[in-house]
Amino acid sequence: MTVDLAAIRHNVQEEMQRLAGKSALFAVVKADGYGHGAVAVAQACQQAGATGFCVALLDEALELRAAHFTEPILVLGITPPEQAAIAAANDVSLTFGSLSWLTAAAEDLQARTNTPLKVHIALDTGMGRIGFRNAADLRDAADYLAAHQDLFLTEGVFTHFATADEKDTTYFQQQAQKFNGLVAVLPKKPRYVHVSNSATSLWHAACNGNMIRFGVALYGLNPSGRGIPELPYPLQPALSLTSELTFVKQIHAGDAVSYGATYKAQGDEWIGTVPLGYADGWLRRLQGFHVLVNGVPCEIVGRICMDQFMIRLPENTPVGTTVTLVGSDHGETISMQDVADYSHTIHYELCCILTQRLPRRYI
Ligand code: PLP
Repeated sequence: MTVDLAAIRHNVQEEMQRLAGKSALFAVVKADGYGHGAVAVAQACQQAGATGFCVALLDEALELRAAHFTEPILVLGITPPEQAAIAAANDVSLTFGSLSWLTAAAEDLQARTNTPLKVHIALDTGMGRIGFRNAADLRDAADYLAAHQDLFLTEGVFTHFATADEKDTTYFQQQAQKFNGLVAVLPKKPRYVHVSNSATSLWHAACNGNMIRFGVALYGLNPSGRGIPELPYPLQPALSLTSELTFVKQIHAGDAVSYGATYKAQGDEWIGTVPLGYADGWLRRLQGFHVLVNGVPCEIVGRICMDQFMIRLPENTPVGTTVTLVGSDHGETISMQDVADYSHTIHYELCCILTQRLPRRYI
C-alpha cells in the first residue's frame, strides 16, 4: 500500500484556501487515518496547515499525543466518563450528549485531576446517533456547565449531517435549522461551532461555522461516491495498492482454479497468482473484478483466498511483474470507487478494512 502524502497535503491546502481563514480545519484521522496511517497522515495535514485533529476514540487521541502532536484533538464519539481525567491530563477534548455523562465525568475529574476537561456539546439534529435532541435537556446541561467551570471548559458545539452528500437538500436544511435553534439556547457560543464533514464543507460551505471536520476528502476521495461528481477542486487520491506476480502457469480447458473449483478454463489460459487476499482486506466478493498488469485489465478468477488470489493473464508474464489493484498503470486506472461499486460498499469501508499486514510505503 502506497500513501501519497503530497496528495494529502494538496487536498488539505485546497480546502484551506477555500476556507480563506474563516474556518479552522480539523483533519479527521480516526480509524488509523481511514486506514492510511494516522500519524503519517496527521503529519502531512499539519504541514498543510490543519489546525487540529478529530478522532473517534480516546486511544486514537493518545496515539497522536504520544507522537508529540500539540494541536487540539477532539474525540468525536462518547468516551467512557471514567476516562475524563486521562483526557484532561492529555489536553484531549471530549464529546458529550447528556447531562448524565457530565455528572459521571465530573466524579472522575474531581477524584483524579485539577485540570479542567475541554468538552464539545453534541446536538442530534437528525443523524439519530449521539447528542441532545431538545432544548430543555440542552439548557439543563448548559446550566450544569456554567456551575462547574472548575471542571469543564466548553470548547465546542456541533452536529453531524446525515445527507450532506446527497443532491436533495431537504433533510439537510431541516437539520441545519434545528441546529441553529438549539445553539440559540446556549448562553454564549463556544470557541468552535462546527457542523461540516467533507461533504458539508464541499457542497454547503455557507453552513460551515468556524471549524470543519475534514475527513474522507483529505484522502482524495469524493464523499458522495459517484452521487455528486462536481467538486469545487479536483481531489487527489492518496492511496494505491500494488503487488506482484509470485507464480505464473498455463492451464488447459476444464482445469479449475481455487476453492470450490468455481472457475474452469475455457481453453489454454495463463494464470498468475497474487500474494494478497481477504486477510489483507481484499474482499472475497471481488472474485470476477479485475486488476491491472502492464495496463491491461485482468480478471480475478476463482475464489479469493485468505492470502492469495489468481488472475487470468493475456499471455505468459514474468514472475515479479507489478500488479495494480488500486491506482494507475500505463494510463489505466482502478479507483477505490471502482472497487467499492463492484463490492457493493463505499470507499470509506474499503480503506478502513485494509489490514495491518499490508506493508505501507509513504511517498
Ligand atoms: N464528523 C463526524 C462526527 C464524523 O463521524 C465523521 C466521519 O464519520 C466526520 C466528521 C468526517 O466525515 P467525512 O469523512 O465524510 O469527511
